Amino acid sequence: MSRIVIALGGNALGNSPKEQQERIENAAPALIGLIKQGHEIIISHGNGPQVGMIRQAFDTASAVNDKVPAFDLPECTAMSQGYIGFHLQKGIKKELRREGMPWHVATVVTQIVVDQNDPAFLNPTKPIGSFYSEEEAKKMMEENPMLHMKEDAGRGYRQMVASPKPVDIAERDSILNLLDHEFIVIACGGGGIPVVLDENGDYASVPAVIDKDFASAKLAELVNADYLFILTAVDRVAVNYGKPDQKELVHITVDEAKRLCEEGHFAPGSMLPKVEAAMEFAGSKEGRNAVIASLEKAPLAMIGESGTRITLS
Ligand code: ADP
Ligand code: MG
Repeated sequence: MSRIVIALGGNALGNSPKEQQERIENAAPALIGLIKQGHEIIISHGNGPQVGMIRQAFDTASAVNDKVPAFDLPECTAMSQGYIGFHLQKGIKKELRREGMPWHVATVVTQIVVDQNDPAFLNPTKPIGSFYSEEEAKKMMEENPMLHMKEDAGRGYRQMVASPKPVDIAERDSILNLLDHEFIVIACGGGGIPVVLDENGDYASVPAVIDKDFASAKLAELVNADYLFILTAVDRVAVNYGKPDQKELVHITVDEAKRLCEEGHFAPGSMLPKVEAAMEFAGSKEGRNAVIASLEKAPLAMIGESGTRITLS
């Protein structure tokens, strides 16, 4: 039996609650397929489109109705973890019941500790939320000096947040306890809610986003997983992606992956963080496997018939 962390791509979850529920129901047999093969699974997921929709909804509503408050990013991330977790719990439980399997499913609202001296905080790079005019943006920054607003590709001003690296998972013990009791755990949604330890030793949330691929690698490391599966929209990682000489990769070592990253084969913001997260996990200990594959072909990837496997040697 292996312990497998499965990271689901946010873009694979559709553009509305209805689409999301349908896609999860379609994916559930593949996930349960892994449990039927005798493995233990822990699920993490992205939330880019979902947290964007939530933020947009509150921004729009609070602009026209003073009974609706503005919600900051940590709260929006928590909401996205809750509603994506809800659909995953429903979809997975339905499939488990159909298969007569007694497992439990639970979502853990997850805070991830980051280092407040992470250099990423000096250069916020991730645009989030609505667009504003220059005038509005300046007024917002005057009112809240913590806010970074920047011109985004000629479309107006947007809040920019940092993307620090995950250091620890605040709810790690809760996750491990649930795993000990045959729970399928859903955790670290959207890369988790970033927090730093304040001077009293309490967690304080920070307006930042953690890449879900890095958060999933950290989760896999902390629960001592054997496999990290990063499931996305393509069957395999490719070199010369989108070009006539594109070639899909079946198995590469961490050193080979490093060289391919340096040669620029993987797009920053999409495939590059996946390959880097895979290298980090596979490189952390001999015997740890990272696999980047498509959601539909996850069971095939498990037996080595699909996906790209990354190992230390
Ligand atoms: P997710 O929502 O799963 O994180 P992303 O869109 O962020 O998905 O990243 C996956 C996408 O990366 C693929 O669907 C593909 O379009 C793109 N991509 C970029 N470079 C490569 C590559 N070298 N090989 C395969 N896919 C690539
Ligand atoms: Mg992504």
